[in-house]
Amino acid sequence: MIQVGPAGIGSGSDSIPQLRKLSMSIAEVAFVHSIYMSNEKAKLLNPLAKKNKVQLSIHAPYYINLNSIEKAKTNASKKRILDTCERGHYLGANYIVFHAGFVGKMTREETYENIKTELLELRDSVKENNWKVKLAPETTGKISVFGNLDETLSLAKETKTAFCIDFSHLKARLLGKINYEDVVKKLKHYKHVHAHFSGIEWTDKGEKRHIMTPMKEAKELLSFLKKHKVNINIINESPDPWNDALMMNRILKEI
Ligand SMILES: [Zn+2]
Repeated sequence: MIQVGPAGIGSGSDSIPQLRKLSMSIAEVAFVHSIYMSNEKAKLLNPLAKKNKVQLSIHAPYYINLNSIEKAKTNASKKRILDTCERGHYLGANYIVFHAGFVGKMTREETYENIKTELLELRDSVKENNWKVKLAPETTGKISVFGNLDETLSLAKETKTAFCIDFSHLKARLLGKINYEDVVKKLKHYKHVHAHFSGIEWTDKGEKRHIMTPMKEAKELLSFLKKHKVNINIINESPDPWNDALMMNRILKEI
């Protein structure tokens, strides 16, 4: 099954019933700059989401680096992720998405190992706390940052955690030369995939910014996902995610 919904539900109380009205069944809470929701608020929204048959996920705050040379910064990043997991647990969210870290002056191999070590600790904490959420490091858009497709999939495999495939980030990393079918083929064997999509602008360093979703490209991606029967949730992250998610849902009905 393919489900498409928007990023950003604000306080949620109005937007969750609104999603239902628009026949959308997924959405992502975006803690872009801070964890703006309390556990109490999350507990209030949980039954509202259930009643409206909306499955939520959460994007943890952007500033996260599990590969900092300063231990304090890595620990602060882990706290942000774990605080997000706690909100997610009370909210009934499934995936907790985050950008795992920077490469900096280290090699990509050292970076991979460091991030893997921290991710395993995070996974243990989630387990100990009995939080029913899945850690999902995301494919990132800047070439110099950790999180290309292979790194992301291999990290998930080795740590037995989930992942988030941002198709537009992958496109930016490849300077536009993405073959969606090749990517989709790599995803078809997973039981379930969490993903992001929107239009994107890039420079020779990769991602510049998210832009509105080109309809033709959305149709191309959705057609391949359907062809290969991928079980996937796609969160639209364009500057107008609600309208673009609706556009993608209209395409889904046509193809
Ligand atoms: Zn994304």
